Amino acid sequence: MFAKVIIDQDAKALDRVFEYIIPDEMQVCEGQRVLVPFGARILQGFVVGLEKECEYDESKLKSIVRCVENFPVIKKEMLCLMQYMADRLHLKLASVLRLFIPSEMRTDKVKELIVRFVELEENFVLPSARAKKQLEIVCFLQEHGKQKFADISNQFGYAPLNALVKNGTVKMSEEQENRVPTFDKVENVKRKLTPLQQRAVDTICENKTYLLHGVTGSGKTEVYMTLIERVLNDGKTALMLVPEISLTPQVLANFKARFGDKVALIHSGLSAGERFDEWKRIFFGQARVVVGARSAIFSPIENLGIIIIDEEHEQSYLSESNPRYDTHDIALFRQKYNNCALVLGSATPSIESYAHAIDGDYTLVEMPVRVNGMEMPKIVVVDMLMEMRQGNNQIFSIPLIYELKNIVEQKKQAMIFINRRGFSSFQRCRNCGYVAKCTDCDVSLVYHRFENKLKCHYCGKRFRALDVCPSCGSHDIKQGAVGTERVVIELQKLFPGVPIFRMDNDTTSVKNGHRKILNEFRDAKPGILVGTQMIAKGHDFEDVLLVGIVDADQSLYQADFRSIERTFQLITQVAGRAGRSANQGRVILQTYSPRHYVYQFATNYDYKGFFQREANLRKVTKFPPYARIVRILFSHENEKTVADDCKLCYNKIQKIKEDYGQDFVYLDVMKAPLNKIKNKFRYQIMMRFTLDKADEIEKKVYDTIDEKCKSSVFFEINPNNLS
Ligand code: ADP
Ligand code: ZN
Ligand code: ZN
Repeated sequence: MFAKVIIDQDAKALDRVFEYIIPDEMQVCEGQRVLVPFGARILQGFVVGLEKECEYDESKLKSIVRCVENFPVIKKEMLCLMQYMADRLHLKLASVLRLFIPSEMRTDKVKELIVRFVELEENFVLPSARAKKQLEIVCFLQEHGKQKFADISNQFGYAPLNALVKNGTVKMSEEQENRVPTFDKVENVKRKLTPLQQRAVDTICENKTYLLHGVTGSGKTEVYMTLIERVLNDGKTALMLVPEISLTPQVLANFKARFGDKVALIHSGLSAGERFDEWKRIFFGQARVVVGARSAIFSPIENLGIIIIDEEHEQSYLSESNPRYDTHDIALFRQKYNNCALVLGSATPSIESYAHAIDGDYTLVEMPVRVNGMEMPKIVVVDMLMEMRQGNNQIFSIPLIYELKNIVEQKKQAMIFINRRGFSSFQRCRNCGYVAKCTDCDVSLVYHRFENKLKCHYCGKRFRALDVCPSCGSHDIKQGAVGTERVVIELQKLFPGVPIFRMDNDTTSVKNGHRKILNEFRDAKPGILVGTQMIAKGHDFEDVLLVGIVDADQSLYQADFRSIERTFQLITQVAGRAGRSANQGRVILQTYSPRHYVYQFATNYDYKGFFQREANLRKVTKFPPYARIVRILFSHENEKTVADDCKLCYNKIQKIKEDYGQDFVYLDVMKAPLNKIKNKFRYQIMMRFTLDKADEIEKKVYDTIDEKCKSSVFFEINPNNLS
């Protein structure tokens, strides 16, 4: 027999299938990890196929050395998924396979946890009366049976226990044990579904893709849990994805309370050992529900009855480092493979997903009111330019300070949201609010400090940095954003003695930092929580009656085509934190562009209106989902090499462009915005195609990259971040 093997290495030349002889005495299955001779080395590889006959000259083939595990770590479905991802996303086979197993397994850094046990031998002799401790141990074991070695040793001492083992009174055994991640214990509360929830659960019953559009507080989580229970009752399994940042201790605890040992939880807080053991519980079918962040989509769970992507619009579902993929694509593949339902849930669906629902590809399920029947909090837009003209140069507007004072007096709570993301910053006139945009692409320009230039991240056009506002002539030009620390200091000055908490990457990087801050905030009345995206979702605090958004424009003027959509989503999410209980909440939204349409729609919670407007804009300017953007990124230590590779490829693509006319909307070559990362130079080719011909052109474009190209090449489809 012969095995088709993919070598677990990054080199481009190895990105194909190699043939090896399976020695007669060896048992090898598809999906198994093996060690194979390669040149002078022994490398790890994955068996992706078995053949009776070999394609190459048998006399030149080498034999597999041995298997790494005694079972196939890659299941059939995942092998198919590998092929799909390699074909569709132009990824290397080995880099895809690595997604399917815990990284610690590849590097052999985790071992199974082996626990030692002790128990009395059947015909034991009682120790002498002088060995008092030994006698105690024997009595204890007699009464309680088999015990962990470590426990007995802790209780009675190592020496007497060891002596008993040595003289044959006690026998020792070893067992493999699963490491169980810790979680908070909460009660399993199961609620009677509201009529809207019931309708959603009843509708979602076929092997189709559903878009569950439910406002914040409409009770989507209860719908998910009910659906999961149903598939478990049908003997199937469930996979649910939640953005990492929403996988709060509270959420994890709720799932554990509802599904007990049936659920495996996969999140970044796990140790390598815990991750490995959870993976194994999934692999061997002990866990029948998986709840986890993005990478959990690759869980080796079989017989899926449902896949759920909560907060489906979240950009964290796009993997932006190698290998690059969109979780939606993977979920759609698995849905078809397993013939199961796929549910995409959100209060603010992505424009892409909603467009699919409008076109009938997805079935739309709506939950337009909150469980408790409460109205959505009122959003008040504050014009910061007006504030400035009236002499207020502070971070906080007069209305926000007024509302904060109210909260403090009533001993209630407030959240202050600060939007920070990415390295990019825009320039804005502080007098009139003007922000420079690309003349061709209608996205904001990014300020590059080193060159003191403004650049468009879609077409590469450069513009002079602003020193005078082209709109009003003012010299008051600002860039950069206010940070959380600064806001906390200002608040402390305004409200001495009031507990103020900060939640951002800095304060949550310590273990349990996240939980600690939230627990302290919960009890602080009055109290103010200042935070980034982390506070935007998932938390349910009854006494939060006010949410302040310091600078809503921060996300609006990010240089990417999804920035307006993202701003709408953020405002809606953040607003959802206010007034979760019977008390109506209020949101103060500070902006320098109060008349921007995104704020008009967001303050009215008019998602459909927003969708129409935004979708039209994307149609006219030819951006996704009405066109496809492809970026090819080249990187190499030597700048000339990468520039040459890129140019060569570009010239070939230019010929393709000529054949396709209007369908090849846009093509340019340039240095990447982040021109050098970790000593590697980066160049890129940017393209846009109409949807009609996108697959066809994409394939041809991909084929222009040949073996001779020395740079590392990355293909990105509709990327979020163009750095
Ligand atoms: P969403 O995810 O849609 O924003 P949640 O799932 O967080 O909404 O639910 C909002 C609140 O309503 C939660 O506090 C939840 O416990 C509660 N809830 C959900 N379903 C019900 C129900 N059927 N009856 C009573 N309370 C419910
Ligand atoms: Zn101006
Ligand atoms: Zn441009």
